[in-house]
Amino acid sequence: MQAEIISIGTELLLGRIVNSNAKYIAAKLADIGIEVRYQTTIGDNPAHIQEALKIASQRNDLIIMSGGLGPTLDDMTKPAVAEFLKTNLILDDQQLDRIKQKFVEQNRQFVETNIRQAQYLAGGQKLLNHHGLALGDFYQNEAGTDVVLLPGPPSEMEPMMDELVPILIDSYHLKHQLISTVMKFYGISESQLMSELDDLVSESSRVSIASYGKGNEIWLRLTIFDDGQDDAQQIIDQVQQTIAQRFPSYYFSDNVQESLAAIVVELLKSKHKTITAAESLTAGMFQSTIASVPGASQIFTGGFVTYSNQVKEQLLGIPAEIINQNGVVSAETAIYMADNSSKIMHSNIGVSFTGVAGPDSLEGNPAGTVWLGLAGFGETITKKIQFATTESRKSIREKSVMSALQMIWL
Ligand code: ATP
Ligand code: MG
Repeated sequence: MQAEIISIGTELLLGRIVNSNAKYIAAKLADIGIEVRYQTTIGDNPAHIQEALKIASQRNDLIIMSGGLGPTLDDMTKPAVAEFLKTNLILDDQQLDRIKQKFVEQNRQFVETNIRQAQYLAGGQKLLNHHGLALGDFYQNEAGTDVVLLPGPPSEMEPMMDELVPILIDSYHLKHQLISTVMKFYGISESQLMSELDDLVSESSRVSIASYGKGNEIWLRLTIFDDGQDDAQQIIDQVQQTIAQRFPSYYFSDNVQESLAAIVVELLKSKHKTITAAESLTAGMFQSTIASVPGASQIFTGGFVTYSNQVKEQLLGIPAEIINQNGVVSAETAIYMADNSSKIMHSNIGVSFTGVAGPDSLEGNPAGTVWLGLAGFGETITKKIQFATTESRKSIREKSVMSALQMIWL
């Protein structure tokens, strides 16, 4: 089974937007064992659409097109495809009603060109669009190559592609599927991670392991091709388990959606602990990260942004001599910040951040020097992190937050 993706949109050719649709569609097809041989990008031009279809249908079993299903004059995909396939466009009354209803809801006058969004190819199977107005299409062509039409906006196209996957599996009786899983790590470098997986990479050729950086995290993607000969799911599960056991302090989730912050919030909820923070260099970033998790209010009541030494003394009651004697970027200051914040806020746990976000050094500490404090698990502990002096302020602050989350989680 060989496929071609045709992305339609003049703005793609002009370099105004990134062709994320082709990436998304390609990955979905790869997952079910459909080989993408070509990716073509063309403008909103009927002659070019037909030309691309002609070439693509000579060399593939399936063509997936995205873009140009909208109501405006530049959206020409449907009529161009219908003409190429020598079929008609049928108006779907139900969809037209839906579209008209949307206009009423939004207090807008119905515009006649919107009828086009309710059309689909005669002989094709309409694909519903739950996030937009344009119907998609799956046209199985007795005489030649099958064609799928999807809309351009990724927010519409992606869920429709997800729904198309089982339809493709059914229609083409696809058995050979890729099973894959993601493992997320923090606090270990990609090269170190991979070097400690050497044996697995070479030994178990059935499971392929690929690593990549995702923000401040390292992700592994494990994939296995299920050819029905053995229990592929069990094999990949075993490899995942082996890797998880090897990196207990760095591996935190196999859920793409789940952040380290969400895991920490869940952990604190389950232990009925509340948390606060006193933040210097991160200036509220930790608290904001915690608060971005739904349900954070159960464990977080408030905290402190104490940027200057004066405010650290006034708001947190840190003795001036502690800062004077040890420096503000020190274990002692971090301990006081963590301890006092939790006392003042009546929280079970207090986390503190003091450090040098750079680019200049402070008190002789180079940029990237960070002290974290953690009060409340029976004792107050500190951790010094020395990020590379070349790291950006943004990255030093973000990684400080991640490191504190990791400290709590462990
Ligand atoms: P609309 O009803 O919004 O006009 P449409 O199906 O006609 O939908 P297009 O007009 O081609 O789609 O694209 C709409 C928007 O979707 C574009 O402005 C662009 O932001 C986005 N888009 C289109 N194609 C792609 C693509 N291949 N990758 C990423 N984004 C895309
Ligand atoms: Mg459009």
